[in-house]
Amino acid sequence: MQFSKVIGQEHIKQSMVEAVANGRISHAQLFLGPEGNGALPLAIAYIQYLFCKNRTATDSCGACPQCNNINKLGHPDLHFVFPLALSKDVEKSTDVFPKWKEAFLQNNYMSLTDWMNYLDAENKQPVIGVGESKDILHQLSMTSYEGSYKVMIVWMAEKMNLVAANKILKILEEPPDKTIFILITESTQLPVTILSRTQITKIPRLTEEEVATALMQRNGQSKEVALSVARSAEGNYRYAQVLLTENEDAVFFSKKFQDWMRICLRMDGEKLSEWIGSADSGISTIGRERQKQFLAYSIQTIRKSLLIGKLAISIDAGEQDFLTKFSPYVPLESGEVIFDELNKAYHAIERNAHPKILFTSLSLRIHDLLAASRKLVTA
Ligand SMILES: [Zn+2]
Repeated sequence: MQFSKVIGQEHIKQSMVEAVANGRISHAQLFLGPEGNGALPLAIAYIQYLFCKNRTATDSCGACPQCNNINKLGHPDLHFVFPLALSKDVEKSTDVFPKWKEAFLQNNYMSLTDWMNYLDAENKQPVIGVGESKDILHQLSMTSYEGSYKVMIVWMAEKMNLVAANKILKILEEPPDKTIFILITESTQLPVTILSRTQITKIPRLTEEEVATALMQRNGQSKEVALSVARSAEGNYRYAQVLLTENEDAVFFSKKFQDWMRICLRMDGEKLSEWIGSADSGISTIGRERQKQFLAYSIQTIRKSLLIGKLAISIDAGEQDFLTKFSPYVPLESGEVIFDELNKAYHAIERNAHPKILFTSLSLRIHDLLAASRKLVTA
């Protein structure tokens, strides 16, 4: 992770470069700032700059063995502690480090929620528990491989439980030789004793321009989309990514739904099997979570088509045209049945129903319901 791969935060990068150049590296540092500010990639870029054998005046080289190892999060002197869904088999970060590494390498700006989702542990409390402190001491007591610093980055340090915090405080008070601790936190809800032992650096939220530029360069967005998403993201690049996905999903679902209803109306078997099974966008290939989202979108759209012209509802321009043409085919009675069928399908997907079979029979059912009213509309 080079500084150049970290969005914005130019002042902070500058002061890190100076700290390394002057050899003034504090052994206990705390990075404080809101989600999506890039504090974690920044901390890693900082350590890479410190370890790099060929650093320039502004960045690490990105190519020496030190840089290579850090890039893969595989440097023997760089350790990580992070919140876990504690269980009998998972008591300390090293127990699931390969997974965490995988999640981080996929998205350097992942949030704590992303990480818990990655573990399939959405409903568990993320905790840095007491099992961690022994492991930290163990890892830091080993001689550094490269004969230089040993570094421990504690991500989301506010999730330390009290016992863990007290043990870590002891280590901060009497640190093993040549060690650097970087605690990363989004809130100051840490014991005062820890706050007072660390050198605090505030990592601010990104500016709108920085987020917009990142969306254009990293996510290939047009200037127009990038600016509009950046405006809503409030300096949180992670949230900007979420908004972008939602945007893309909305466009995809809307097209997919409109195609589906047209196919159901006329029941074109060939088109239906493509709609269901095509490798790039077939409904059976997009994964269970998105199938559920699509069904939720469909339920909402059927509801809108029942209400259009009767109640003031918010409909965007793209939908307006489709719904005006479509709603005559969905009189209240069949609309309510379709509504129920979609709901049932949603729960069936949750219970691992076979998507191909489910969407085929659902389409036939919807065809029957639409066909009945089609006679009326075209009569
Ligand atoms: Zn290097």
